[in-house]
Order: sequence, then structure tokens, then C-alpha cells
Amino acid sequence: MMLNKNTKTNLGALLLRLGLIDEDQLEHAMNEHQRTGIMLSKILVRLGMVSEDALTQILGTQMQSTMKMRLGEMLLQQGYITEAQLEKALEEQKKTGQRLGRTLVMLGFLPEERLIEILSAQLDVPFIKLESFTFDEDASTHLSDEICRRYDVVPLFVANKTLTIAMADPTNIRVVDIVKFKSRMDVDIVMASKKEIQAAVDKMYATSSEQESLADLIRDGDDELETVERGADSSVNEPELTDEEGQQVVKIVTTLIHEAIARGASDIHLEPQETHLKLRYRIDGDLQLQPPIPARLMPQILSRIKLLSKMDIAEKRKPLDGRFTVRYKGSEVDLRVSSFPVSLRKRGVCEKIVMRILDPNSGQFPLREMGFDPRVLKQFLEAINLPNGIILVTGPTGSGKSTTLYASIREIIDSTTNISTMEDPVELNIDGVNQGQINNAAGFTFAAGIRALLRQDPDVIMIGEMRDTETSSMAIEAALTGHLVFSTLHTNDAAGSFPRLLEMGLEPFLVSTAIKGVLAQRLVRRICKHCKEPVEISEELRADLHLTPDMQFYHGKGCSKCDGSGYKGRCGIYEFLVPNEGVRNLILKRASGDEIKRTAIKECGLITLRMDGIQKALAGLTTLEQALSASTRDD
Ligand SMILES: [Zn+2]
Repeated sequence: MMLNKNTKTNLGALLLRLGLIDEDQLEHAMNEHQRTGIMLSKILVRLGMVSEDALTQILGTQMQSTMKMRLGEMLLQQGYITEAQLEKALEEQKKTGQRLGRTLVMLGFLPEERLIEILSAQLDVPFIKLESFTFDEDASTHLSDEICRRYDVVPLFVANKTLTIAMADPTNIRVVDIVKFKSRMDVDIVMASKKEIQAAVDKMYATSSEQESLADLIRDGDDELETVERGADSSVNEPELTDEEGQQVVKIVTTLIHEAIARGASDIHLEPQETHLKLRYRIDGDLQLQPPIPARLMPQILSRIKLLSKMDIAEKRKPLDGRFTVRYKGSEVDLRVSSFPVSLRKRGVCEKIVMRILDPNSGQFPLREMGFDPRVLKQFLEAINLPNGIILVTGPTGSGKSTTLYASIREIIDSTTNISTMEDPVELNIDGVNQGQINNAAGFTFAAGIRALLRQDPDVIMIGEMRDTETSSMAIEAALTGHLVFSTLHTNDAAGSFPRLLEMGLEPFLVSTAIKGVLAQRLVRRICKHCKEPVEISEELRADLHLTPDMQFYHGKGCSKCDGSGYKGRCGIYEFLVPNEGVRNLILKRASGDEIKRTAIKECGLITLRMDGIQKALAGLTTLEQALSASTRDD
């Protein structure tokens, strides 16, 4: 498109003139541009030569000023407007800051249709009438309702990985950039009138905005308490549902999954009660109660989920697991589902179902963006680049251990190493890594897996968890025979993993030699940046924690962006223990975790979970309260 070509050729010269880059930088960027074919502007940003904000601003003004000249002159030349009208419009424009074209339309000097025709010809952007356009339904999944309304754009269709959008003002490069960023696609532009775009957006997103909320859906069912014979098998007297109710079940299941994903939940819990089906979402680590689902629909809802997960629907007395994939806003989201039979006094055996939403973006975080203290990051990078030894990640379930392990593997992956994993379950696929799925029933246990893997000439092995003595001793053996091993362990802190391994019956000498580093981590809730404010800390607490009066802490006071909770998202706190000789000697002496921790603080400069938590609270990332509850005292 002409628009891009113009900006591409002029951009370098313009930035040079403005003194934002020098000639060497431009040459370097141009070479990269020619080599990779990536837009010059992107390369400049990526190389850190120009900030993205500065660039969009410059491009925006540049386009606008050239447009202004050309458009005004051209309209005058071609007799669409008079000189007096142009002057009046330019004057008006100074007051309102609106574009010239729009000002002319506003003053009634030019019909909007005509303006669009002219702009379209001038910019070489096709102009279309949206009224007669048939929209690709899928297109709406690439841009949110909100973006469309805010910037007056509407997605039309996708072809060859390019999203075609209609916009009223194609000279607004900032909007094009925003659409590119949000849709993660190349973008082609056509023009349409603002009015038609707004009408099209209303039509396109009507279904989603008018879609019933989950609460509405469930409220429809009349919720009378059913009496079920004590101990009766719930499958025997499942009430027959009408077609309409059957459709309602499908709708409820779809809606509750979509709602959970939209709200960033990690798990969906469905728990049968005597009078209803309890629904909870785990969001940022906390379970949040949702409106109850009528008991009448309970069996069908559970069956529907089991059917989707390819579980045996007839089997209700054994724990089962399965998985399925849903499409949400254009991307695929995997759900891992497990059922667990529970016994209710009146209903008898029912199944509790938990769906884990596997975030396709988790594990995509580079290690460098995971919030490590720079000193810790340096140590950790050194450790994961060692040729052999064990690196452990510890913490309770849901502390982000897998994310860290995946990020570590991504960090060290290259074509010359053979990286294999044994996971239970495989949560996320990494290109170039052989990922094994543990299947205890079939005899593919962690221990059997390591044995088999060692015959596969591995360099790096990731073992989902050091669950038992056999697995742990094989992991140590692998580490001592020249392999780098990643694994996890359930302990409260880094130092605690040494006594834990000895309790499993491993030899102190082997443990002290093989373990090269232990990372303990927790996830704490991040303060909502929209309502963050300083908070007072009591004198007692300051004294207790040895905090000086100048240390300022923060909290979120609650706003619409965070549903009033004051928190949005989570961040990690870490402690990384690299054993020195002192620590190794303590392991040989079977010292306690506390003793090892004290020595590590003194001799290895260990930054503990508590210290890192307080650091992150001081930095305003989390609250002091969160930092304290996620860590224990160091003294
Ligand atoms: Zn907030």
C-alpha cells in the first residue's frame, strides 16, 4: 500500500533530521531491514534506537501535516471548496484540533461521502460501502468490541494471515499499529464512512454483548429442592430434560468456560451440593464463588463436561481425567479436566469436577521478565547453563514452578543439545524438546522414564517431580553421570529441600555433590496499577520487621478495573540457594533446614523469600501483607 511505502522511505531521513538517530544507526537498521524484510520502524524500536511512542508520534504528525497541505490544496484546485471555506476550516481546525477533512464536513462545506472518495483516491486505499458487505464471522474474534468502538474500525475478513479492516481515517497510523498489535496480524486497510463503521460494529458485536450472562442463564431454571432417596445412585433418577433444557445445558457449559477464561481464571471448580451445583473460579490464586447452578441441571452439566473431555460417562465411581480444547477469541485454549467421586447424604455419589485452564501464554515468559532480582537472575542463569548437576524448583502447587522450568528450558534450548522431559501432565509444548507424558497405569513412571531416557543420549532432562526415593536417586545418578537435571520438590523453602531428600533415604554425600541450586518461589498478588496508593504501616510492624520509617509501602484501594479487590494479576517472589562449602558440610552432617538457611544467608548472600517479598512490596509491585503471607520469618 502506498501509505506504507511513503513512510518507509521517508522515515530514516526524517529521524536523522530530527537528530533522533545518527547515520551509523540508520545504516545498521537499514541493513537489518533489507536482511529480514521487517519494517524499518519495527527494527528501530527493536534495536532500542527510538521508542515506540516517539515513533508513532512522529509518524502521526508527519502524515497529518502532509495530508493537510495536500488535501486542502487539492480540494481547492478541483473546485470542491472555495478559498474562503478553506481558510475558515483551517481557523476552526486550530480551535478544535480536528482533522481538516472532518472539519470541512462538520462545517457543511463537503459531504462526508465525497471526502472519503477523495481521500480514498489520494491515499490509494479502496473505499467500500459496508451496508452491502458480507462480514466474515470469524473476523470479529481478532479485535475486541472495545477497540473497534474506541478507534472507529471494524474487522472485515482474514486472508493470508492478514486482517482487513475498514477505518474512517486511514492516515491515523497509530490506530493501524494498535490494530496490528492487538490482532497480532498484518493489517490491510479499506475506507468506509464513520457512520457505517459504527453501525457495522454494533451489528457485528451485538451477539456477544447481548449474549446472556451466566447468571441470567442459570436464573432461568426454577430451583426446587429435589428429594433423592438416601444413598440412591444419582445416575438412576436423572430427570429427563426437554430439548430446550438440553440446549440450555450446552449454553451454560460454554458460557461458564468462556467467562472463566475472560476473567483470567486458572481453574473452574464444579462441586455438587445437596441443593445445587456450586461453581467457583480460581482467579489470581483465590477461589471465587459464582452463582449456583440449579440441582436439576447438575447431572447433565457434569455429563456434558465429561463428554467433551472424552471421559467414560457411565463411570461415576472412579476418579477420571481427560482434556479438551475450546476456541476463545481466535485462539485455542486447552482444558485439563478431572473428576472425583464425592458422597452426599441425600444424593449419594456425585462427581466433583475441576477444569484446569492451561494458559497458552504461561511458560512463554522469558526468564528475564519473571521478576527475578538481578543478582538472583545472574546466579540462576549460571546454574542452568552448567553441564551437569540438579537444579530444583520448590514451592506449593500453583506457585508457578512449571512456568519457571519451561522458561529455563527455553533459555538454554539450542540445536546442539538433546533436551527431554518427563511430565505429569505435559502442560505446554515446547518446540525442539522431547516431552514425555508419564502414565503410571501403563508403567511409564518417572523412574522407568529416566531409565529409558538415559539410553537416549540426553544432555538435559526435566523430571516433573522428585516424588519418591526411586525417582530421586535416579535423578541424582543422572546428574552425577554428566547430565543437567531439572526437577521440582514440595518444600517450603530452598534450604528445606536438603533434609527432605535425605529423608527419602538418599546419601548425604550424593545430595551435597549433585544439587547445584535450589529455587524456592511463590506467586503473590500484584497491586492494581489503576488504584495504587501509598499505605501506612503500623509502628509495631515496622519494629518487628526492622523496617525504617522512610520505607514506603503501597496497596490498591479498589476500582472498577480490579473488581474492587485492589489487585490485578500476580508476580513471583524467589529465593535461590547455591550451596557453598559451608552448606555442603552441613548437608553431610544432616543439619536442619533452618541451620542451612542461616549459613546460606551469612555465607552465600542468600536473598530469602521474605527479603525478596519485602523488596517487591517496596517497589510497589505487591502489598506488604501479600509478601508476609507468602513467606516465613528469616530469624
Ligand atoms: Zn484497581
